[in-house]
Amino acid sequence: MDILPFGEWEINREEIILLQELGSGQFGTVQLGRWKQKYDVAVKMIKEGTMSTEDFLEEAETMMKLKHPKLVQLHGMCTIEYPIYIVTEYMSNGSLLSYLNSHGKQLNQQQLLEMSCDVTEAMVYLEDLQFIHRDLAARNCLVDKTLIVKVCDFGMARYVLDDQYTSSTGAKFLVKWSSPEIFSYSKFNSKSDVWAFGVLMWEVFTLGKMPHERFDNTELLKKIMSGYRLYRPRLSSDEIFHIMSSCWKEASTTSG
Ligand code: AMP
Repeated sequence: MDILPFGEWEINREEIILLQELGSGQFGTVQLGRWKQKYDVAVKMIKEGTMSTEDFLEEAETMMKLKHPKLVQLHGMCTIEYPIYIVTEYMSNGSLLSYLNSHGKQLNQQQLLEMSCDVTEAMVYLEDLQFIHRDLAARNCLVDKTLIVKVCDFGMARYVLDDQYTSSTGAKFLVKWSSPEIFSYSKFNSKSDVWAFGVLMWEVFTLGKMPHERFDNTELLKKIMSGYRLYRPRLSSDEIFHIMSSCWKEASTTSG
């Protein structure tokens, strides 16, 4: 097995005690860990063959520099041995999607709006740095103990080694969050993040419903191209719906 590049981000894996599994995702399982016997951290244990690790490590330095109160902080990595660990801030209320599903009914409109605003703040920061998220969705945001929402997994879609997920014609490709430019020419930019943000806001105001539930990828693609869009969630005012809908304008109809 090749030895991977060693960078300033390196954390000594012996300083981390793994405590319990928090969930699993594209790259494998995520565990709650205790770092230096002091800090609660989340540890993504990268399953071999799921990530283009060399490309990721090349970009890791840039990602470590991204710091914002509404972004899940990357603390560092353990790269000397497999499995590679990605160590991040721990968010005790788990993913925004699962939180909306399990606790959404206890939230009022103001709180739903605040959750959406948290995501906006993180995305404005990323856009200012010309950093594209590429996979913004409620499943990729996390909720902390005070119900602040933070954006996670920024840029990580670039390192997924699964064609079914990364190719716009793949079975796992997430058309439901994608703007027409992505499924037509795989063109990711800040505007495609804006489109996905509108869908995320819709997820928030439906308390975590699956967007476009009735359509498969092929049907949805045709419908979106002919101007079809998500409906107004019951909990969203016209004003809020206007904001989410304004995210779903095709490039040719938007300015700037
Ligand atoms: P991911 O691999 O990022 O899709 O994460 C899979 C699951 O692990 C998420 O849906 C969460 O339930 C959990 N998880 C991931 N990162 C964290 C974190 N920083 N804090 C708490 N739970 C997390």
